[in-house]
Amino acid sequence: LIEITEVRKSFGSNEVLKGINLDVDPGEVIAIIGKSGSGKSTLLRCVNGLENIDSGSISVAGAQLQPDELHLKALRLKVGMIFQQFNLFPHLTAGGNVMLSQTVVKKVPKPQAEAMARKMLERVGLEHKFDAYPDELSGGQQQRVAIARALAMQPIALLCDEITSALDPELVSEVLAVVRGLAKEGMTLMMVTHEMKFARDVCSRVVFMHQGRVHEIGPPAEVFADPKTPELKQFLGML
Ligand code: ATP
Ligand code: MG
Repeated sequence: LIEITEVRKSFGSNEVLKGINLDVDPGEVIAIIGKSGSGKSTLLRCVNGLENIDSGSISVAGAQLQPDELHLKALRLKVGMIFQQFNLFPHLTAGGNVMLSQTVVKKVPKPQAEAMARKMLERVGLEHKFDAYPDELSGGQQQRVAIARALAMQPIALLCDEITSALDPELVSEVLAVVRGLAKEGMTLMMVTHEMKFARDVCSRVVFMHQGRVHEIGPPAEVFADPKTPELKQFLGML
C-alpha cells in the first residue's frame, strides 16, 4: 500500500534519511522506534508529503508522490496524520473540529459532515462530547477527537507520530485502545511510538531506525526478543 524506495532527505548538510526502503502492506501496523534524531518523524512527514524528498520514491496506493501542490493535497486526503500535539481549534466544538476539514477541504455538505462526525466520535467513544470544546476535554479525549477528525476523511492509511507522548500516563491507554481497535478493523498504520508493550501486542512489524537508516526490521517477537545489532540492544536497554 505504501512503497518507500531508497528515500533520501537532507536538511542543509544534515542527511536525515539515508536511503530508506520499506513496503507496507494493506492492514499492516508498523511501529517505528529509535533514538531522538534518528529520522522517525521526518520519514512520516515525507510519506504524508509534508516534506519533499531529495531522491528515491514513495508511492501510496500505486500513485507515486510528486512534489506539486495539487498532488500533495490529494495525497493528504488519502493519508491521515496525527501528532503529539492535538492541534484542535479551541473555538470549535469536538464535532466542529471533526467536521471542519470535511466541509472545507472535501467540500462535503454540512449535514453529511455532521453525520460523519457523529459516527467517528462514536468510534472513538466520544459521541456524548459532540458539543464540548477542547478545553472541556481531557488530553486523552482531545487526542481521540483528533483521531476522529483524521478518520472522518476516510484515509487509506494513518500515520501517528508519538500520539501518546504528551499525555498523562493514565490517559495513554484510552488512546491506545482506539488505535488497537483501528488495527483490528484492518486500518493500515505507521506509528512512531515509545510504547513497546503496545508495539509488541499490536504491530505486525517493528522498524528500528538509527542514524537515518532502517537498522533492523522484523516482527515484534523477533526484534524485541532477539535484536541483532548492538545499537538496538542498547536502545532496548539490553546492554
Ligand atoms: P524525536 O524522537 O526527537 O522526535 P526523530 O527521530 O523524529 O526524533 P526527526 O524529527 O525526524 O527525528 O529529526 C531528524 C533530524 O532532522 C534531526 O537532526 C533534526 O534536527 C533534523 N530536522 C528535522 N526537521 C528539520 C527541519 N525542518 N529543518 C532542519 N532540520 C530538521
Ligand atoms: Mg519525532
